[in-house]
Amino acid sequence: MTRPVLTISREQFRVNLEAVMRRLSSSQLMIVMKDDAYGHGAGWAAEDALRAGVRWFGSYDIATGVNLRRRLEGEPRIFAWATSDDDEVAGALLHDLDLGVGSEAYLERVIAQAGSLGRRASVHLKIDTGLHRNGIRPEDWDRILARTRAAEDTGALRLVGVWSHLSEASDEADDESRAIFTAACDAVTRTGDAPEITHLTASAASWWRPELRGTVSRIGAFCYGIRSAGGPDLEGILPIATLSASVIAVEDERVVIDAGSFDGIPSTLVGIDVGTSGGVRRLEKISETCSEVASWDGAAVGDEVRIFGPGAWGEASATSLAERIGTVGEEILTRLAPRVRRSVV
Ligand SMILES: *Cc1c(COP(=O)(O)O)cnc(C)c1O
Repeated sequence: MTRPVLTISREQFRVNLEAVMRRLSSSQLMIVMKDDAYGHGAGWAAEDALRAGVRWFGSYDIATGVNLRRRLEGEPRIFAWATSDDDEVAGALLHDLDLGVGSEAYLERVIAQAGSLGRRASVHLKIDTGLHRNGIRPEDWDRILARTRAAEDTGALRLVGVWSHLSEASDEADDESRAIFTAACDAVTRTGDAPEITHLTASAASWWRPELRGTVSRIGAFCYGIRSAGGPDLEGILPIATLSASVIAVEDERVVIDAGSFDGIPSTLVGIDVGTSGGVRRLEKISETCSEVASWDGAAVGDEVRIFGPGAWGEASATSLAERIGTVGEEILTRLAPRVRRSVV
């Protein structure tokens, strides 16, 4: 039985990383590796990023961060910002992860774990700059900051950084967020050392709004070549992944390929163009484990059909597919099932 293949280009990944780092100039890249590096595979990607000179890794959760720590030599900084249970926090302290902390309750748990393990936690306090998801409200900031400074004095933690996440809903909203962010950083400086690092922006704002960048920029999508849905192409950046399927049967009007909705291909994608050796053809039907494509002259079992990818004959990228069904490229990639073989070349 054949399976669809996601072919991932390490060379393009390296090119993208260089383009992102050039664009960021003095802001350092923190590559975001959540969801298995957006479905591309976090292990090889982290090693390649380290080789390309990346020194900050954003794991989201602690388990991923611990795996990265075991894999990456030279002690790069690994930042885990998911609010986690006490066992996970202990793991983070033992493996020297930096922790994102966005609530007083979590701060107290981190302090308690550090005390019981005799370790000093590296903490990045998160100010809520408008998303209202996770983050310390501005009205609580001074009080929680004072608590953090007191814990610093006892050796339980080190306040490393201040961070937040933008809504990217509009430039105005992001400007307001930045004003709150700057005030929070100023409050840190008034109570002791200035934050060693500050980080506010993800892919789009880091790329398009240099004035919003902190000393570090947390970037996932653009490193993997996933442009924003509805957004323009990015200079020097291309998708690193190509999804292909194989022809498994040739009928009169249609050709059957070995990729379907169980592989993570949204069934709402019926009607897209896919790339075949006979040119672009319409994807006529999506079933669970196979799909049907309008036929072409000379179609044969074993032929490759490209569903997306740079330079593909059909859709250029996961994002251009996503735009057809009102979602984002990240979702197309992270939904691909384990059955899809990853081939890193
Ligand atoms: C996912 C995520 C990022 C990266 O976002 P991209 O748009 O993929 O660059 C940055 N920061 C946080 C908190 C995130 O959750």
